[in-house]
Amino acid sequence: MAAVLESLIFLSLLRKSCMPLRTILRYPDSRLHKIAKPVTVFDDRLKQLVTDMAETMYEAPGIGLAATQIDVHEQVIVLDVSETRDQLQVLINPEILWTSEERRVYDEGCLSVPGIFDGVERPSHVKIRAWNVDGVASEFEADGLLAVCVQHEMDHLRGKVFVEYLSPLKRNRIKSKLQKEERELKKDRQPVPVR
Ligand SMILES: [Zn+2]
Repeated sequence: MAAVLESLIFLSLLRKSCMPLRTILRYPDSRLHKIAKPVTVFDDRLKQLVTDMAETMYEAPGIGLAATQIDVHEQVIVLDVSETRDQLQVLINPEILWTSEERRVYDEGCLSVPGIFDGVERPSHVKIRAWNVDGVASEFEADGLLAVCVQHEMDHLRGKVFVEYLSPLKRNRIKSKLQKEERELKKDRQPVPVR
């Protein structure tokens, strides 16, 4: 399968490269609500972005990452839902062509909402069209975890974070918890005064 070959090429690139990891934005950062623009140029810059995103996702570790989450507002997604962590998929300018009427609730988590997991209901099957880094389009069907992951990441490109599906009460609790953690993190980053 082309996706597998692509992932192998990328993994070998990753092992050779020592690019810095990109910083993942944390909810409720307002930049997570920006709308991503379609990619129009399929060049080396795009390949580098995808390589950085894959490395960031594997290091985190996560099963999916949208460019929005690293403050790049272009329609680029990387994901790998395999247990072996060697089946990288790259979705550029993804479009949902079809969704099933059947819906399922999955417990979702997000690298931008660390430590929070909650049930979100979505269509259980989807059909997607997306481009690869070389600008070649293909269509595929997804179900199970892959369907969840694709829809979750595509939401990021539209500026939507999964906690927005939860009740306002839950969302506000999550917001305050993460804001508190962020303040603690900032405190830890303060330089220690020299005595
Ligand atoms: Zn996410």
